[in-house]
Amino acid sequence: MPAIALIGLYLAVVFAPLGLAVASGRPPRPMMDELAAGAGLVAFAILLAEFLLSGRFRAISGRVGMDVTMRFHQLLARTALALAVVHPFLYTLPFNHPLPYDPTRQLTLTFEGEGLVTGVLAFLLLPSLVILSIGRDKLSLRYETWRLLHGIGALAVAGLVYLHAVEAGRYSQDAMLRWFWSGLLGLAVLSLLVVYVVKPLLQLRRGWHVSAVRQVAERTWELTIAPDGHDGLAYRAGQFAWINVGHSPFSLDENPFSICSSPAEGRELRFLIKELGDFTRSLSRVRPGTRVHLDGPHGHLTLEGRAAPGIAFIAGGVGIAPMFSLLGQLAHEKDPRPTVLVYGNRAADQIALGDELARLRRVHKTKVVQVLSDPPPDWSGETGIIDAPRIRALFGEEKYRDWLFVLCGPPAMLDTVEAMLLDIGVAPGQVLTERFHYD
Ligand SMILES: Cc1cc2nc3c(=O)[nH]c(=O)nc-3n(C[C@H](O)[C@H](O)[C@H](O)COP(=O)(O)OP(=O)(O)OC[C@H]3O[C@@H](n4cnc5c(N)ncnc54)[C@H](O)[C@@H]3O)c2cc1C
Repeated sequence: MPAIALIGLYLAVVFAPLGLAVASGRPPRPMMDELAAGAGLVAFAILLAEFLLSGRFRAISGRVGMDVTMRFHQLLARTALALAVVHPFLYTLPFNHPLPYDPTRQLTLTFEGEGLVTGVLAFLLLPSLVILSIGRDKLSLRYETWRLLHGIGALAVAGLVYLHAVEAGRYSQDAMLRWFWSGLLGLAVLSLLVVYVVKPLLQLRRGWHVSAVRQVAERTWELTIAPDGHDGLAYRAGQFAWINVGHSPFSLDENPFSICSSPAEGRELRFLIKELGDFTRSLSRVRPGTRVHLDGPHGHLTLEGRAAPGIAFIAGGVGIAPMFSLLGQLAHEKDPRPTVLVYGNRAADQIALGDELARLRRVHKTKVVQVLSDPPPDWSGETGIIDAPRIRALFGEEKYRDWLFVLCGPPAMLDTVEAMLLDIGVAPGQVLTERFHYD
């Protein structure tokens, strides 16, 4: 399904409750009360759709990219929160028990005990969830602990809002809207079951093991895994996978990494991993033979179907991982288009897989521009960082306008390079990026 159709489907789901409310034919109330009800209905629909957006479904993230999907997820969570916060305060109707002469609730807001308690609980829990996610990095919570709390919290909010809607909601009393909420809640629960039960069960049947681990640069490791009795992973160069090394497939201990090898290399997969937190710092202790579970492939940093007279790869630090995969595949296919690789690091000992860079230079004639901000005295490459003037100096000429630009690296570098490329006239559709951090 094309991205535009996905967006249309999303909008249809989120605004369907408004349509069903109008179709219910209930007599209208004062404008503020209808706005309050509308805010609540749309907030709940957004909330339930969030489960599908964060569920790693390739039909969604494969079209627009996982980082864009997660950004939408975060933005929409804030939107749902804003609507949910204003929802109770917009009402102007008096708050009371049902009046015998007001069966359609025209003149009062009627909350029986359950409808009120569930609404208040959800009202308190939803901001806590969003604030915990925004401030996650500042709290000393393990990522996996946060993820567990986030999943359970989101499910609790969805359940509470469902009860609140069907107990206290004016429009959700109607069968159609009740069915709509039940169906969407069912899909949300199903998406959790797929990610946390079905996929792990499938992973058990297609296991992997570590075949090699070696240090390839300062605090950077190459992890190679091999399939256990199956034909490996059908992936495209530039994609990534979540891997779980040495844990049960049902564990939350899994991390996303770009596949550094290219499909042409065969069944083994290589990953280039920089030490950052608990898992990545434990790589020196991982032994060959350790069991691995894999969820993938994911990602849209791929070259298939993208026409361009040349391709530039711009990488900072470990952002080089998917570039090796893409360039390796181009070299294997003897792709005749010119390629330029700009690779930035702080120091020379951070340059990963120098032998592979030399091979790409030699065999595929890739122009490799190495940039170091803290170079050794005998450094013959470029000095400084990958910033806007450097991009203009390298790609400012007219002949690069129609090239494809593939970017991966620290967020600040990506933002600067992307802005400069657009500034020199490269079309947005010709710039592909992969972000290693979703926040
Ligand atoms: C699409 C993608 C591709 C990536 N490719 C590479 C790569 O090729 N090489 C590389 O070195 N790093 C890559 N990363 C970053 C890598 O995933 C993190 O550095 C790693 O997960 C950190 O794990 P940790 O346990 O060591 O640290 P932690 O302290 O547990 O995590 C540090 C940060 O990593 C991120 N992270 C951790 N676990 C997950 C998870 N399950 N899902 C999403 N984000 C998570 C979070 O932002 C977290 O705050 C990639 C990230 C993404 C999203």
